[in-house]
Amino acid sequence: MNTETFRKVLEILRREYGRWDAPAKRFENAYERTPYTILNSTLLSFRTKDEVTLAAGQRLFALATTPQEMVKLDRETVAEAIYPVGFYNKKAQSILDVARDLLEHHGGEVPDTFEALVRVKGIGPKTANIVLENAFGQKTVAVDTHVHRIVNLLGFVDTATPEATEKALKETLDETELAGLNKLLVSFGQVICRPQKPHCGECPVRQFCPTAS
Ligand code: SF4
Repeated sequence: MNTETFRKVLEILRREYGRWDAPAKRFENAYERTPYTILNSTLLSFRTKDEVTLAAGQRLFALATTPQEMVKLDRETVAEAIYPVGFYNKKAQSILDVARDLLEHHGGEVPDTFEALVRVKGIGPKTANIVLENAFGQKTVAVDTHVHRIVNLLGFVDTATPEATEKALKETLDETELAGLNKLLVSFGQVICRPQKPHCGECPVRQFCPTAS
């Protein structure tokens, strides 16, 4: 798929986005959206279904919505609140490490640059990009499994890893086109282009897809 066709696909998906009842969109109203809750929600989400992440976030943010409040909790309490997200013990530790780091080095605020974010203990490049895009509205692209899978199956890129996909997307699309791409494709991947059983029959971009069934 060439860039022009991919732009057309994105245009169609952006038009359809408002009609989808995707778990990713429910996050918008589930709890107060601050850079800190978005950061923690992102940490919770890895290797975890969105419905589980959403419920875990609601329980966690009922206890603490700032680093100051978070560090007052012990690891067991955090783990209990976020269970059963994947690796809940490890994630509980990360949540506390991040809270301490933010308090020690950033005055309790979430930094808004990639370089500063990846220096925080517990934050990797993927988390940093998601936070920059979703919390600060920066024009970057966070490539998770949905984004990586969908742009490959559409034949726009041919890459083996999310990192390679991110690089390829940044080389071909401009910043405006990248903005919101994560949320768009994650929602598309949850509602229509599902990993196990894609709903090709109701897919608005079926005509462009080389793997339509
Ligand atoms: S046609 Fe099927 S596989 Fe292709 S993008 Fe649409 S849902 Fe996904």
